[in-house]
This record gives sequence, C-alpha cells and structure tokens, in this order.
Amino acid sequence: MLLSQFPRIHLAHLPTPLEFLPRLSKHLGGPNIYVKRDDCTGLGTGGNKTRKLEFLIADAIEKKATSIITPGAIQSNHARQTAAAACKIGMKCELVFEKRTDNPTELYLNSGNVFLDYLFGAKIRVVDKGSDMEAEMQKVAEELRNKGEVPYIIPVGGSNPVGELGYVDCALEIIKQTNERDLVIHHIIHATGSGGTQSGLICGLKAMKSEIPLLGISVSALKSDQEEKVFNLACNTSEYLGLSGIIKREHIVANSDYVGKGYGMPTKEMNDALIMLARLEGMLFDPVYTGKALAGMISLISDNYFNNDENILFIHTGGTAGLFAYQDQLNIG
Ligand SMILES: *Cc1c(COP(=O)(O)O)cnc(C)c1O
Repeated sequence: MLLSQFPRIHLAHLPTPLEFLPRLSKHLGGPNIYVKRDDCTGLGTGGNKTRKLEFLIADAIEKKATSIITPGAIQSNHARQTAAAACKIGMKCELVFEKRTDNPTELYLNSGNVFLDYLFGAKIRVVDKGSDMEAEMQKVAEELRNKGEVPYIIPVGGSNPVGELGYVDCALEIIKQTNERDLVIHHIIHATGSGGTQSGLICGLKAMKSEIPLLGISVSALKSDQEEKVFNLACNTSEYLGLSGIIKREHIVANSDYVGKGYGMPTKEMNDALIMLARLEGMLFDPVYTGKALAGMISLISDNYFNNDENILFIHTGGTAGLFAYQDQLNIG
C-alpha cells in the first residue's frame, strides 16, 4: 500500500535472504548476528543500488529517457549496477567518475567494477577530484540532447526520494521476514555513504511504527555531516511518501569512527574483518563499504555497545566486485 502508488520495474531478486551467522556470533561472543543479503539482489553481481534502480529506472522510462547519466567514484558499485540496469531495459549509460582516491593503483583504475562497466558497454569519463559533478553531468546531458537523446540523470548513489523508495521497501521486507520467524531484532547496522540506504530504511521503519534503532557506519563523512545529510534526505522522502513529520532528528544516528584515512582507503580493521567473515562464514565483503561497517560492528561488540542476549541485523549492501580492484592492497596472509 505504502509503495503501490509509485512506478517500479523488476530488477532485483527479492526478498533477499536473511541469515543467521552462527560461527561469527560464537567467535565474537556477543549478540546473535544476522545478515540481510542485499549483496544477492542479482543484477550484475548485485548490491544495494539495485533496489533504488527499480524505482529510478521506472521514473526514467516514464520520462521517455533513452540514456542514463550517473556519477560516482571510479570503483562505484552504484555505477556498475546502473550500467547493468541500462542494458536490461535497452538504454545507454554514461558514467562520470571522480578521481576521489590519491595515487590509484592500476587494478583500482581498471579491474573490479570498472571492468564490469566496460563489459556492460557503459561510456566512462573521469574528472578531477573536487570537480562540480552536477555541472559535469549537465555537460554530458547537453551533448546527448544535441544528438537527439533524452538523458536522465541519477544523482550520486541513487539517493533521492525516488531511489530511496527501494530502501523503504527493504525495511518493510525486513519487518515481514522477522515477523514470519518470530525473530526480534534489536539493532540494524549498515554502511552509509550517499545516505539513501539509511534514509529509506528509517522512513520505512518509522512508517511501520518500528522502534528498532538504525545505525549507519560512515565510509567517508564526519558523523555530524553524515547525520545532517541523511536527515535531510529522510525528511524529503517521508514527504514524498505523504508521511511528513514521521522523521525526527534523533532517529538518524551515524558513527564515523571507522573511516580511517578516507573514502576508499583500506584500514587494518577492515582487512581483518574481511578475512574473519571469509574464513568463519564463507562470505565476501568489500573494502570500501561493508568491510568498514563490519569493522565498526566488531569493534562496537567488543566495547559492549550491545547486550549479549540481543539480535543484531547487519545489512550486507554488496560491493564484492570491488574486491578485485583492491587485490594488491589487501593483506590476506
Ligand atoms: C553505495 C553503497 C553503500 C552506501 O549506500 P548509500 O545509500 O550510498 O548510503 C553501502 N555499501 C555498498 C557496497 C555500496 O555500494
């Protein structure tokens, strides 16, 4: 009911599984850890952006677009999923990448997501760090219009009220799955970047009157900046849903203690967390987002942030294609 008024196309394998991680939970000796497998959304190796794209691409189709333009860092998972989605519906895809990390390696520039972008036939342009991405995308849009195309710009991370509907839906899916199993979740944790995942989730939770606290582990911005960004997005999205007023400032909680030297820069704790999950659960995480969020979760567990009898749900937002781009920067022993 909440979402049926909005146009949507089918791109993701839904519902994604919700799994218990028995060996990790035992190893850490804290709360029971569950994982929501949004890395398994299925499109071009999957990830969280596919849920957003179900609504964004539907909007692009309504607006008769022929070409999608979207920005990102060079190893953007969002860009890779957008490129795949464009193929699936027969649109062109133009990616505008910001050289966000200093001294990028050869693998970072060409492997992982970038390899897949080219495989999906996307066109890539790279601009300098700190460029006005909006202006750069407008330039591309103008070029395309001159060629008779109808461009549709998707903002960074697909984070606007249209895209965030995908994570409103994910919150509803989590509530349904946990109710069916009589599972009480005490905390939800995930990596937060452009902010759409967190703002969509909080809107979905609050629309359902859920009190589960949501914690975003920041992968770049400072806590106060990240919270402010997510709060603004969530206010806009709740309004778009016709539910303005459901979001309070205190619903938005981010932790930026696990960023390390900056966006996309590996940390030892991330490296250790990737190895731990691989060797205890046979599960892959990524260096930029989920690995840092996991490092945050593991550290919070050892600081007794959670009670040992609680159930916590980690949302795996994907990104494992990026692992290959970091092969020479990870130390796997
Ligand atoms: C984009 C991304 C995130 C962050 O989601 P936002 O909605 O941008 O905050 C987390 N994990 C992965 C793997 C991502 O690609």
